[in-house]
Formats: sequence, C-alpha cells, structure tokens
Amino acid sequence: MELPSFHRKNQTINDDEESVEALLKKMTMDAGKIQDQVLEEILAKNSKTEYLSRFFADADDNVKQVFKKKVPLVEYSDLLPYIDRIADGEPHSIVSADPILELIRSSGTSGGKQKLFPRTAQELRLTASFHECSRNILNKHIVDDDQPLNGRKRMFLSFLAPENTTPSNLVVRSAVTSIMRNTLAQSLPLNPPLGTSPPEVTMCKDVRQSMYSQLLCGLLRRESVMSVGTIFAAGFVHMIKFLEQHWEALCCNIRQGRISDWIDDPKCRGALSYILSRPMPDLADAISKEFENKSWEGIIKKLWPGVKCIETVVTGSMAQYIPKLEFYGGGLPIVSMIYAASEGSFGINLKPLSDPYDVSYCLAPWMAYYEFLPFDPTSEDDADLNNGKVVDLVHVKVGQHYELVVTTCSGLNRYRVGDILMVSSFHNNAPQFRFVRRKNVILSIDFDKTTEEDLIKTISKAIHNILEPHGFLLTDYTSYADSRSFPGHYVLFWELQDHGGLGHDDGFVQMMRGCCNLVDESLDEAYKKCRVRNLIGPLEIKVVKQGTFDALMDFTLSRRKSASPSQYKPLKCITSEDAIQMMNSMVIATFFSN
Ligand code: AMP
Repeated sequence: MELPSFHRKNQTINDDEESVEALLKKMTMDAGKIQDQVLEEILAKNSKTEYLSRFFADADDNVKQVFKKKVPLVEYSDLLPYIDRIADGEPHSIVSADPILELIRSSGTSGGKQKLFPRTAQELRLTASFHECSRNILNKHIVDDDQPLNGRKRMFLSFLAPENTTPSNLVVRSAVTSIMRNTLAQSLPLNPPLGTSPPEVTMCKDVRQSMYSQLLCGLLRRESVMSVGTIFAAGFVHMIKFLEQHWEALCCNIRQGRISDWIDDPKCRGALSYILSRPMPDLADAISKEFENKSWEGIIKKLWPGVKCIETVVTGSMAQYIPKLEFYGGGLPIVSMIYAASEGSFGINLKPLSDPYDVSYCLAPWMAYYEFLPFDPTSEDDADLNNGKVVDLVHVKVGQHYELVVTTCSGLNRYRVGDILMVSSFHNNAPQFRFVRRKNVILSIDFDKTTEEDLIKTISKAIHNILEPHGFLLTDYTSYADSRSFPGHYVLFWELQDHGGLGHDDGFVQMMRGCCNLVDESLDEAYKKCRVRNLIGPLEIKVVKQGTFDALMDFTLSRRKSASPSQYKPLKCITSEDAIQMMNSMVIATFFSN
C-alpha cells in the first residue's frame, strides 16, 4: 500500500494490523502536522494549474497563506465549467498537474445532472490505502486470536454500474466501479482470496445475474464467511428481498450441481461452474432448512455460521434500516466502516463495534486537506455560520456542526461537499465526526438524494400541468421517505382546496394518478435509476383532510423549544414518527404512480 510522502520511510503496509494501528496512532497524534504537509504537497503540485495559478501570481508569497486568503470556497456549479472543458478534451492542467484518469460520477446531482469529479492515479492509490486501512482495523476487531484470518472471507456484494465516455474519451464511472475496474478490489476486497466471489462474477454487468451469482458463491463458501456486507444498508435489505425471491432456485442449483439457465453471462457462468462442479445435497438441505423457517430472524447468522458482523453503512439516511438489519442479523454487530464520496474517501470508523446509532468517523488526515464551515443545525434554511469563515481539522469543537470542505490532489480546491458533520470527540489529536445529514437533501431511500428544490420543482409541474387545469388548488404539502415498505418509496401528503366528493369521482382518481406519475417521472436521474432497478417503489400521494397542515403546524410548534408561529416555515419533509402518524390519521384517499 502506498502512503503519502509524509510516511515515505515505511512505504508499504501488508496485512499486518499492528502496523496499521501504529500508523493510525501517529496520524491521529500528528493530524495537524499531516494536514499541513498534505496542503503543502497539493499546492506544490497544483498551484500552477489554470484554476489555482491566478491566485498565486506573486512567487514570493507564502502559498498556504494565499490559499487561505484568496482561494474561494466553491460548490459544484462553480466547478462545472472546468469539468465540462476537461470532458471536452482540454488538458488536465486546468485543475490538476497530474493526468486525470477518469471522471467519477456521483449519485448526487446539481441542477438535475449528476456531478462528475476528476480522479488521478495518486487519488486511486490513496483510495486503495484507505480501504486497506479500514479493512485491517475491522479485522483487528473481529478476528479472534485463536481463529486467525487464514482462509476466512468477506461476502461483500458489489456491482458494476454503467460506464460511458466523454467526447474526449475519458471514462465516466461510479466510485465503486472505479475501485472494481482499477483492480483495487483487493483493498475493498471483492474477490478471492479475501472475498467469496471470483472476479468474473463481481464484474458481470448484469446486476441480477451478478447478485444471484455472488449469493451462490457466498452460500457455497458459507463455512469460511466471516462478514456479510454491502456498501449501504439499503443494498443489504435489497439482498434479503432477492434471497426471498430466489432461495429455492439457489438451493436447487446447489442440490443438483447445476446453475440456472438464466445465468447466461458466459464468463460468470464459467467461473461459477468451477465452484459448483458437483451436486451438494447436504449443503442444500442445511441451507434450505434455514430458509424454510417461517421467521427469518437471525437468518444471516444461520446461513453463515462463522459470520462476525454485518458490514454496511447505516449512518445518515441509512439509519432507517438498522431495525431491519438487527432483525436479520440476530444480534450480529452492524459495522459502518467508512464515510466516502465521489469527491474522495475520507472517514474511517476506528471503533467498528460501536452501537450502529452512535458511529463516528475519523477523517483520515492523509486523504485530503479538510476545512470546516460552521453550520447552525437549528437554522431552517441551511445557512452557514461565521460568514463563510472556515476552521482547520484540529481546531473544530466538540458538539459543533460543520459543513465539510475538501481540497484534494485530484483538483478539488476548497470544495463544499455538502455533508453536515458533527464533532463527537477527539481521538488523540484528531476529531471524530458523526454524519448528520446531507445539506438540503430531504428524501432518500437508496442512492437517490432529492433536495427540497427538486421536490418543489416537480410538484409545481404537477400543479401547473394537472391540478390547475382541473380547477384544483394545492393548499400545502409535505413528504417522507417510507422505508417500511419494500422497496421503500416516497410519500407525499397533499391538502387540496375543497372540491367536494374527493376520492369518489373517477375523474378525480385519474387526475391524482396523473399527478403521481408526473412527480415520479420528473424527479432526477438518480431517483429514476433507483426506480428502474426497483430500489424504490411507486410514488404515493396521500390526500389529507382540510385543516391538516394547521394541525401539523400546531404539532411542530408544540415540540420545538422557543418556537414562534411567525417564524414557522411549512416542513417539506417530516421525519418524526409522531408527525407521520398524525398525518396518516388525516388521510382520506391514497394514490400510487404506475
Ligand atoms: P456519492 O458521491 O454519490 O457516492 O455519495 C456520497 C455521499 O453519500 C456523501 O457525500 C454522503 O452524503 C453519503 N455518505 C457516504 N458515506 C456515508 C456514511 N458512512 N454515512 C452517511 N452518509 C454517507
């Protein structure tokens, strides 16, 4: 594993968890110094790029001071013109001294379009070291001394997402696809010897075939599996649903030593046939006995008897899935190991076995230069505090909320990631952060991130195109992401101006279904992808009684300390169970998109 230059004396780390512990200790002790070095290195490399050079006109200036004084904090819209030029074939030196190898496509959107971020070879190597570090920390916590790692595997389901190229032939892919394609899989790890599935299976482009085949490999190697995981918890719940639909076929394949015909990707099928080369009726019996149980409580532990934990991110919007995972895990620890984004990989959980509701991440000080914009969690319009004045990593304060700002070796300079983090404690001299939420995002089921702005825009469309022409007015609305249904789906509560006979008339039903379809079809690309892959179910609109939103205001104000009715702003999303229950008690008619 290559490390940044501040640690050059000891350039590689193998699977020795002790050395990772020692490295982490040093990094958390010296976090401030390392951050200084990281910024120095980035500026030494990138200050001559087109983007940064205009701020460093005078060679005598202290670059770090100039950086802090002159380089502005930016959002994606500020970066977009540069990214567009790179995509069109202009040189990488616009933002990065090193060649840009690929553009990483985020699931987050800006102006309805998915964001793209440059990635260099150095960033790829850092990403590999980051995952290796996080894996070794996890091993240290879950591998017993009397049962060493030898031969034990992770069943970590992971899938290729579609890739494309820019007009200049730069590959555009998701962050996970990048890891898989750049053969960094060992660091995640996705393939043998550490993962359960051969590369031909994980690299199968057909997600259903890949899912089926990865599960088949995991079941065939059940005795050696030490952790079961997906990147995010929504994916884990999806995997369980898939098992519900396919367990009989999987058992039948194992019993007969024959792979289902619909697995027709030649490489995937070929690789599977090595692993399933003969009938295994005993294994099929043992597994189907567990699947046949009426309750699937603890099914993960039963299917994979040596499993030590469920490894999947359950922080942020994924926390909604913790109860489900606890049910299926039957007491297994649920481990959120990393906090990462298309912009870069940042946070590692140093206490993997902590309560899933109480996870903090240590921002790896060698991955990027971090700054923090103080944020007021009680402000309703997501305004930042302090007139845009940022603080350094080691100067953040426990209990304070911040928006994360990063400068990376790949050409992001003081880029506002849009995530709100809260400092929970310090580990040595490095702060630990709790992920609070994504700024502005109000609805999320899977990798979709719907902002208030997106929602307002799509609902306005339904108002203008459907409600108004039918003579209806929308008095008010709110929403929530319902993850109790499977797949989860968006629910909107609408209060319409009284039109008499609501819910009884055929024309009204048609109109409301039209609204559901229009909103469903008008949300952004990430939402659409989730819908196509059935990761999100049909959109639901619940029409509520007259006066419901007055009741919601009373309800909300009664629960907020020192709230004033004149400052009340209608909530475009509700998350409290009580508020959702109250709204549900007011529903008079329900409609779904197709
Ligand atoms: P993307 O760039 O599409 O991969 O999405 C990255 C975003 O996912 C981050 O900016 C966070 O908002 C969210 N995310 C990533 N890791 C975590 C985590 N461990 N906990 C909560 N949210 C996360």
